[in-house]
Amino acid sequence: MVVAVAFATVARADEPYARSRDYDLQNARIALSFNLDQRKVMGEVTHTLAVLREGVTQLAFDSVALTITSVAVSGKPAKYVTTATQLQVALDRPARTGDKFDVTIRYEGQPGKGLYFVLPDKNYPDRPKQVWTQGESEDTRYYIPIYDYPNDRTTTEMILTVPRDWVTVSNGRLLSVTDTAGGMRTWDWRQSQPHSTYLISLVAGEFEETKETWRGIPVTNYVPRGRADRTAVTVAHTPRMLDFYSDLLGVRYPWDKYAQSWVDDFVVGGMENTSATTNTSSSLSHPQLAAETLQKADGLIAHELAHQWFGDLVTCKDWANLWLNEGFATYFETLWEEHQYGADEAAYSLWQNRNSWMNNQRLYPVPMVNRNFEDATEYAGNIYGKGGWVLHMLRQQLGDAEFYRAMKHYLETNRGQNVVTADLVKAIEQATATNVDQFFDQWVYGAGAPRFKVGYTYDEAARQVKLTVEQTQKVEDRVGLFRVPVEMEITTAADRKNFPITVAQAKDTFTFAVDGPPLMVLFDKANKVLKSLEFNKPPKEWIYQLRNAATVPDRADAAKALGEMRHDEEVVTALGQAALKDAFWGIRAEALRALGHIGGPSAQKQILAALANEKPWVRQVAVEQMGNFKDDPSVATRLETIFREDKAYRVRNAALASLAQQKPANAVELLRAAVGIDSPDDRLRIAALRALGTLGDDRGVPVLVVHGGAVSRGALRHDYRSRPARGCGRCGPA
Ligand SMILES: [Zn+2]
Repeated sequence: MVVAVAFATVARADEPYARSRDYDLQNARIALSFNLDQRKVMGEVTHTLAVLREGVTQLAFDSVALTITSVAVSGKPAKYVTTATQLQVALDRPARTGDKFDVTIRYEGQPGKGLYFVLPDKNYPDRPKQVWTQGESEDTRYYIPIYDYPNDRTTTEMILTVPRDWVTVSNGRLLSVTDTAGGMRTWDWRQSQPHSTYLISLVAGEFEETKETWRGIPVTNYVPRGRADRTAVTVAHTPRMLDFYSDLLGVRYPWDKYAQSWVDDFVVGGMENTSATTNTSSSLSHPQLAAETLQKADGLIAHELAHQWFGDLVTCKDWANLWLNEGFATYFETLWEEHQYGADEAAYSLWQNRNSWMNNQRLYPVPMVNRNFEDATEYAGNIYGKGGWVLHMLRQQLGDAEFYRAMKHYLETNRGQNVVTADLVKAIEQATATNVDQFFDQWVYGAGAPRFKVGYTYDEAARQVKLTVEQTQKVEDRVGLFRVPVEMEITTAADRKNFPITVAQAKDTFTFAVDGPPLMVLFDKANKVLKSLEFNKPPKEWIYQLRNAATVPDRADAAKALGEMRHDEEVVTALGQAALKDAFWGIRAEALRALGHIGGPSAQKQILAALANEKPWVRQVAVEQMGNFKDDPSVATRLETIFREDKAYRVRNAALASLAQQKPANAVELLRAAVGIDSPDDRLRIAALRALGTLGDDRGVPVLVVHGGAVSRGALRHDYRSRPARGCGRCGPA
């Protein structure tokens, strides 16, 4: 008997709790072929499973919008029904614990999710053909009827029959490639260590492969046909990242190979499918643009690679604990950044992440471990950004040796298993003899972060600095008072001294013995605590800090604070000097933003002087500020020159955007001409079209209409420093 229920899309929330299982899925043998014209998948899957409880009478598989054509249990045709979300297969008699079955399901479907077709069409006749999947969070069930929640692990086999000139990629080792009838070829991939089903992946189509080896395993990359010139420049660091993570963790990269596929129109930034990551092709570096992007796709590559340990080898048991995947992948991006690009770069990224997280009102009241969601990544900013920050604080508090000892122990004791946060707490305590219950209570199960208001006085007679610290966050619901170790640094004319303190009350006071009046008082030196800080200091102290603080976050804080101080020539001069001379480019950029915020002729002069900066990403920030200087017609002329003469496309693009804000009389003419200029990935054309949109001049409309569809979709979506909002990997190139 066949009961098929037809429906379009089922509105359904991701499950916040892991299910109780009726069976343990042990192997899924999946054979697929495709009808491209109908965007259809034809499949046969055989599930080998063992029953986990007494008296089970049916076996349920997640299955959405698939047409089931037959089901057999251990070789015999079986009765089944389908519901909107399940295929339910009847057993002949109630099963006993431990009974094993092979369930073979034949089906077909035109998946609305999970599996995607990218094909040429009349606008893009040359587009390489691609079929690829995206399983996370609960979308594998849209193209395979399967147990589809992370709390089970299975080996998988993916057998793909595709046109002979296609390439395929799936999890694990390639067992065989066999020519089959009708000009087709069958690829057989086997993932021999169990993994969760949201990590099942296939990529098939017109791709170009490059191959190298790392410690004896294949490391491969697949880019859409015709873009092979982008591979080397984009993925150059992958083998060294494999070294870095393997050595840092003391746990070797765990899978049979590492493949990265770069696909068009990917629905997320990247996805850490077991041993076979899929990334968006829009993150591939164009060789002509590579020199003007600092870290290229390293952030994305490092994030997805880190997931091969945190996410794939050790997997969250339920979506409420997703930070155990995403917080780790996010923080390991930062660790790669620190290793490859230096401590200043990593510190600057953390400083930026801190500010953006602290400013997000929606995330603040929600704990990282949270079950109140519709979509597993609804609070992505917590499980990614705050998750990474919490691990950073843990590393600061434990110290590097203990932190990495704990990571290794956590991976080794939970290898091949599904975890909740308590497993991490236990591993840390076992490895380091440090009780971290209070730390986890406030940062992981509690919400928010401290909002500090700090001030100090100096007692000349007693030679003492008296510091008052208030926690001004509203204590309510899951937000409490925080107990945090904080490092103070006090600089006098003769001395620079550190004082460790612990802040725990709504209002605390501390006194410090010093040898003279302080020149600089730093609260939480080097930005080791996720927090906001309101520290009332006079401009001269902020200026001293901007010039003399040793760490990037402390100087960046100073630049930001000075940006709020108008009508002070000394402030403008100090920011101007920092914009030209600070040793780290990020401080130069922050000083420029502060000057742009202050405005006025003096600030403008300093910004124009900074156009001499050799780093294009600093010049870009200077040019961005110029859009606001509307009283001086010479600025528009300067922007025109920058557009014509700067070596970097990102700076030329910023000049177009600022021209659109300036609105000089010849703006439409200039921008229309810019639309006609060819450039790598259409960068100038896209920037010119955007600028025409900003300009809002009717004379630009015909250009927008003509060119609106002419720019490739991937190119339009690309942004130098953008981070796609969704997806695992929902990270982009930094
Ligand atoms: Zn991720």
